[in-house]
Amino acid sequence: MKDKYAIAAALQEIGTLLELKGGEYFKARAYKLGARSIAEATEDLGKLIKENRLTFVKGIGHGLAKQIEELYTTGQSSLLNQLRAEMPPGIVELSNVRGLNAKKAEQLHEALGISSVDELREAAKAGKLREIKGFTAKTENRILAAIASTDNQPERRIHIHHALRAGERVIEYLQTSRALIQAELAGDLRRWQETVSQIVVVAGARHPKSIVDHFLRFPMTVRTEEQSRNRAVVSLSEGFKVTLIAVKPEEFPIALLKATGSDAHLGKLDQVAAKKKLKITEKGIVSEARPSGRATRPLLTRGLLTQPKDEAAIYKKLGMQYVPPELREDQGEVEVAQRAKLPEDLIKTEDIRGMVHCHTTYSDGKHSLAEMVRAAEAMGMQYVTITDHSPTAFYAGGVTPDRLKRQWAEIDEVQEKVKIKILRGTESDIVADGRLDYPDKILEQFDVIVASIHSRYKMDSAKMTRRIVTAMRQPVFKIWGHALGRLIQRRPPFDCDVEQILDVIAESQAAIEVNGDPYRLDMAPEWIREARKRKIKFVISVDAHSTGALNNLKYGVGTARRGWLRKAEVLNTLGTKAFQKAVKPA
Ligand SMILES: [Zn+2]
Ligand SMILES: [Zn+2]
Repeated sequence: MKDKYAIAAALQEIGTLLELKGGEYFKARAYKLGARSIAEATEDLGKLIKENRLTFVKGIGHGLAKQIEELYTTGQSSLLNQLRAEMPPGIVELSNVRGLNAKKAEQLHEALGISSVDELREAAKAGKLREIKGFTAKTENRILAAIASTDNQPERRIHIHHALRAGERVIEYLQTSRALIQAELAGDLRRWQETVSQIVVVAGARHPKSIVDHFLRFPMTVRTEEQSRNRAVVSLSEGFKVTLIAVKPEEFPIALLKATGSDAHLGKLDQVAAKKKLKITEKGIVSEARPSGRATRPLLTRGLLTQPKDEAAIYKKLGMQYVPPELREDQGEVEVAQRAKLPEDLIKTEDIRGMVHCHTTYSDGKHSLAEMVRAAEAMGMQYVTITDHSPTAFYAGGVTPDRLKRQWAEIDEVQEKVKIKILRGTESDIVADGRLDYPDKILEQFDVIVASIHSRYKMDSAKMTRRIVTAMRQPVFKIWGHALGRLIQRRPPFDCDVEQILDVIAESQAAIEVNGDPYRLDMAPEWIREARKRKIKFVISVDAHSTGALNNLKYGVGTARRGWLRKAEVLNTLGTKAFQKAVKPA
C-alpha cells in the first residue's frame, strides 16, 4: 500500500476502533493524530521507511511506525485486522447513535444481523429490537429518537480559515486519484463568506463514480452521510461536513457555477436566460428558440445544447460580463454585468505591495520586529508598517513614548540589513472622547497611524458616532482600524451612525482598513460599498500578531472584493514612496 492517504485511513480506523473498544484512550488518540501526520507528511513515505526515519515525523512513535511499515509493505495491518475481527461490523457508524456502545452493537449484530444505522432504524420501527435480551419497547423508542436527533443536528457554521484549510486538504487528496481532471472549492467558501455551513467541492472526471469512491476513503472522514453515483456527503473528524459533486468534464463549468451560488444570483441568471429563450441545465445550456428539427435526435447534434468550456463562457452565452464569485450575491451585479460595467480591476492579492498593521513583541505580538520584517520581505512585499499598540491599550502591552524611541532605534538597525522598507507606525487607540492616544508631537513623527477602538464598545449610538467623528476629524492622517469592532460569531458590530461617519471621512484626513484577521474581516462588504460611493480610500491589512498571520492578507482581499473594491482605491497597492506620501500623518 504505497498511497499515504490509504495508510492514513487505516490508522484513523485503528484509532476509532480502539476508542470504541475502550480502555486505551491515549493509544486511540495517538493513532488519530498519527493519521493526520501521515496525510500531511511532505516527505515520501517509502524514503522515510527505507532510511528508518518514520519516528522523526511529528506524532509517530515506534508502535505506529511498525503498523505504517507493515501497511506500506504488505498492504495489511495486523492490529487493524485484529480489531476488525474483535468488533461487530458497522460499529463505527452505529456508535454515532447516542446510547449505543460496542457491547450493544454486538448484541444487535448477533441477534438480528444489524450492521448499519438504516438497518437499526427499520428493526426498531418493526418492533424487532424488543426480542433481544435487555431491549424493550422503550429502548426502541429511545433509539429512534436518538437516530432522528443525529439526523437533525443544527448546522455549525465554520470559520472561513478553518473551512479553507480543510477544503484544500480535500482537494489535495482528490488530486492523488489519476481519474481526476479538475477539482475546485465551491459554495459559500468560494464566495469568501465569513463563515460557511459546509465545504463543497466540485470535481470533473471521465468516470465521476470513481472520484466519489476515492473521496469516501478520505482519511479524516468519520462518517458518510449520503452517497450516490455522483455525489457524497461526509463528516470530517473536525466536525465539518463536506459535499463532493462529481461530474463529467464537459459538465464541470455549470456544476461549479450552480454549486457556488448564491441562490439569489443563480435565480437572476435563470431569468436572464429565460429572456433569451435559454435554459441552464446540468447537461448544458439548452436553446428553446428553435423547436424545429427531428425531436428524436439528441439536443447536442441539433445545435440546441451548448456545453460552455468554463464559467466565463456561461456568462458570455447569457450576453453579459463574467461575474467573479465574490460578487455573486444579487447586489446588482447581474444588471451591471449586462451593461458591461463591472470593474475589470477588482483588487487581487498580487496587487498588494505593502504589509500594513503588524504587531511585534513590543506590544502583544508573538514575533520580534526583525522576524516580522523578514517574513514580510520573504512574501515579496516592498514595505511593512510596524503598528504596535499605544499606551492606553495597557492590557496589550501598549508602547510608552520611552519604549517607542527604542523601537525606532531598532527599526533603524534592522533596516540596515534588509531591502524591504520598514515604516514606523502605531495602532493608536481612539480614546473615549474621540482623541487619539499619544500627544500630537509624537503622532506627527509616525509614518503611518492606524486608529482603532479597543474599549468601551457599549456606548449608545449617538455617543459612539461622536467619538469616531471626532477621531476622524483629527488633523493627522489616520486609517480607521477594524472599523465596527465585530468579532465573527462572538461580538456584533457596535452601534453608531455609519453613514454619518463615512460622510465625515470623505472630507477628512482618513482612510479605512479592511482587516484580514479572519475573526474580524472588518469593515464588512456592505459598508465598503457605501464608502466607495463617497470615494473614500482603503488599505487592506493583516493585523498580524505573528509571522504566520501575514497570510491573513488573502482574507482581507476576499472581503474587499466582496465590497467591489478596485485596485486604484487601495492605498497599499502603491509603491513605497507614493504610499508613504498618501498616509503621511502630517
Ligand atoms: Zn486592534
Ligand atoms: Zn491590531
